[in-house]
Amino acid sequence: MISTERPSQLLIGGRWRAGEEEMTFEIVEPATSEVMARASIASPADVDAAVQAARKAFDSGAWSNAAASARAKVLYRIAEMIRSNLDDLSRLEARNAGKPIRDARDEVLGAAQCFEYYAGAATRIYGETIPVTAPGFDFTLREPVGVVGLIVPWNFPLTIAAWKVAPALAAGNAAILKPASYTPLTALELGRLALEAGLPEGVLNVITGPGGTTGNALAGHPGVDKIAFTGETATGVSILRQAAPNITRVSLELGGKSPNIVFADADLEKAVEGAVTSVFANAGQDCCARSRAFVARSIAEEFDQRVAVRTRALKLGDPLEESTEMGPLISMKQRERVQGYVELGRKEGARLLTGGSAPGGALTKGSYLEPAVFDQAENRMKIAQEEIFGPVLTIIAFDEEDEAIRMVNDRLYGLSGSLWTRDIGRALRVAKAIKTGVLSINSTRSVHQEAPFGGYKRSGIGRELGMHALQLYTEVKNIFISLE
Ligand code: NDP
Repeated sequence: MISTERPSQLLIGGRWRAGEEEMTFEIVEPATSEVMARASIASPADVDAAVQAARKAFDSGAWSNAAASARAKVLYRIAEMIRSNLDDLSRLEARNAGKPIRDARDEVLGAAQCFEYYAGAATRIYGETIPVTAPGFDFTLREPVGVVGLIVPWNFPLTIAAWKVAPALAAGNAAILKPASYTPLTALELGRLALEAGLPEGVLNVITGPGGTTGNALAGHPGVDKIAFTGETATGVSILRQAAPNITRVSLELGGKSPNIVFADADLEKAVEGAVTSVFANAGQDCCARSRAFVARSIAEEFDQRVAVRTRALKLGDPLEESTEMGPLISMKQRERVQGYVELGRKEGARLLTGGSAPGGALTKGSYLEPAVFDQAENRMKIAQEEIFGPVLTIIAFDEEDEAIRMVNDRLYGLSGSLWTRDIGRALRVAKAIKTGVLSINSTRSVHQEAPFGGYKRSGIGRELGMHALQLYTEVKNIFISLE
């Protein structure tokens, strides 16, 4: 397990070492605002060393040319090691990201499942035979892209690292993982476990440091063949710019402003529960957070009041307490930003039904915020349009189905969403009309290990998870054999 006593090092070419400039940064525990660890800052020279190490590992063929079944075995072993370190990893993630321990445990298990899935998928990456017009035999190969840079955010640190590392390795690539500066600890642990599981040196490198320098150097490095990024839309734009001169392949999972659409015939109890859990899980710091609810006007008042009651009952507290349902936000800065939106919502004229203040008592030291619910809002308001990335729900009433669809689609984002109705015709009609990459009916589940995940519009490019993710990490080579 990573020592929180001494600064974490960089994992480059299978060796742990300090950054070339020997600089470190603080990692703060959101529940206490105290420094819990330090991590190394990778300079551009360190990034270059990681790229060289990954290239050497890739070119050696020890991983990229290994039998797919041999790669699968290592991926299964990584999954096993994640499972056998479940308690330590969950505690580390809960402390570092401020998430409730129950959620952290689910996420760590989810990361193990991700490695298991791609261990199975490794032996199912194959091409096609194509009946071409010319007299010959045509077939395709799916080959690894090469050296891939994986840049991940702080809201689901290990989970999103696994979503990228597992398919990248299954396809035979060599990877450089750059975790978010708030939450690098479980990514470093993943690097350690992967080495212990028998992954050849240099196939997975883990570097830490600020996005603006370390991440930027990785995205713009000419030796990187592909960047997979999850984070803010604005950062995605910067990454595209960095990658452009080298024609580096880029896939992006970006921001969202996802809706719950509640029709008058919905199972109200389930819709209320779904509305609350889908926006306040992970303290609203979730790209799929259903931060807008569009509710049929005839049931709006009852729905809004029930949501407010359920929200007030959410248990805020220490992430390490089993009964905690919502922990602190990632930082005081993030809390300030979210509180700014609460203030803005008031000024814009929406009604604040509950929450929006920092709690006192035992929670004063952490970056906690009471979950907030606005109703009587309008779609043009900033609280309905912008990604707040915190525990704020904005409820808007609608009269007609078309009006709800129009409002939902009137956003630059298109990641996820849910709709609630007992009318199957309406469910499918609306699902087809909504411009999002992921949609659930009478459910708030957005993520399935086996199914594609990603966004329309400014929510991203490409699909992660399932077999779709393998398209991001492979090149297609077409081969023609003349039979003349
Ligand atoms: P950021 O975009 O700020 O950061 C994400 C990662 O990119 C971090 O590792 C960060 O490093 C790094 N980074 C920052 N600037 C650069 C740069 N110029 N070049 C290269 N890398 C850089 O996002 P957050 O960490 O704040 O995460 C929250 C965002 O992520 C939200 O907008 C959310 O919607 C989105 N998200 C999207 C998901 C999806 O699947 N669509 C899933 C989860 C989150 P550092 O931490 O050092 O700044």
